Amino acid sequence: MRRSPTHVRRLAAGLLAGALASTALVLGSSPAHAAHAPLTAPGAPTQLREVFSPDGSIRTARVPVAPQAAPDARTERAAEAATVEPVEVNGPSSGKLDLVFVGDGYTAAQLDTYRRDVRSKVAELFAVEPYKSYRSLFNIWQVDVVSRESGVDDDPTQGVRRDTALDMNYYCGGLDRLLCVDEAKAQQYAAQAPQADQVIALANSSTYGGAGGTVATAAGGNARSGQIAVHELGHSLGGLADEYDSPGAHQGGEEPEPNVSVYPRATMSAYRLKWYRWLGQPTPDGGTVGTYEGAKYAATGIYRPSQNSIMRTLGREFNAPSREAMIAAFYRKAGLAAQTPATRDAFGIWRFGVTAQQPAGGSRVTVRWRVDGHRVPATGLRLGIPAALLAGKAPHHVTATVTDETPWVRDPELRSRYLTSTLEWTLRP
Ligand SMILES: [Zn+2]
Repeated sequence: MRRSPTHVRRLAAGLLAGALASTALVLGSSPAHAAHAPLTAPGAPTQLREVFSPDGSIRTARVPVAPQAAPDARTERAAEAATVEPVEVNGPSSGKLDLVFVGDGYTAAQLDTYRRDVRSKVAELFAVEPYKSYRSLFNIWQVDVVSRESGVDDDPTQGVRRDTALDMNYYCGGLDRLLCVDEAKAQQYAAQAPQADQVIALANSSTYGGAGGTVATAAGGNARSGQIAVHELGHSLGGLADEYDSPGAHQGGEEPEPNVSVYPRATMSAYRLKWYRWLGQPTPDGGTVGTYEGAKYAATGIYRPSQNSIMRTLGREFNAPSREAMIAAFYRKAGLAAQTPATRDAFGIWRFGVTAQQPAGGSRVTVRWRVDGHRVPATGLRLGIPAALLAGKAPHHVTATVTDETPWVRDPELRSRYLTSTLEWTLRP
């Protein structure tokens, strides 16, 4: 396909829309960030991207929307058919969160390296809670994207060019550790796997680097760059805000994300706002939950729940309010439970069944059965009722209320909306 100017504009608009889908990037043109802005042509579209340092610190930088705006003929190729390999499948995609890996700069002879790199990133992601306890809610796929040349652009030094399938490059927007990808191309490859909830592009490199966005990126061969995916999924799945700060005061009112607030502790507690239920409780990233000043790119006038969570520094745990939001988000995407049709067996027993997610760790999934509104003592995933007991006035209603009782969620509204499923069967004579 020839890349017309219209196509380039469409691509740029698409990338911008994609960028805006991530809370990490919805920053507008805050003056606080102007200091980081690399030189770009006046009026050229830009977006804010997160830049990750090897010490775990994070900041944002403004980069051109389409770094590959002057494509060479090699980037014109459409996505080729690629093998999709299941890395871990825990159930049908309709009831799971699907993570899809795509690789760049891996030649056909290097697919074993790619496989190893995917597995090491998966291990890093699922070492962190609540991914660890809720791992069975995920499916993981890898798309075997084959590149003609090994490695990616501008690695190990700026100016190096390689002919690769996803055109990944370091020095994106002039920032050495910012690893960018042709997002449209990455999405085309990812679309060959089932229903991607998050795409992660791995570069065949050991140079530390990565970026956030609708397609998160990470260096496949760098042992610490998987932390970038842990953080990014906090945004894209959990709807969490960044908790790191930049000089200056917060502008405007309350923020929508569950892990930042303009209200200090006394106000939050008095008016029962945001994470008030967690105030004073221990938090997995250390210390206790409070209101710590400095978050979401401002140093004053806005608070975060803990001293130093992974939404502030890579290599850390999520804090308690963020962990709660992540668990709710997992269930919002994957669902907690589903029902199987009622059957009546040869002995005249009506059989009812539910399938439910089975998280590990401290969570406990309970089932409460009711027949015509009355609790019955059964607590398992199956219920059998002799048809004779259901004689008399019809129709009869059987319900199963499935709940994840994890203490990691305190908000009763979140628990009833996302950690509870009520399934109902109606029996007619
Ligand atoms: Zn972030």
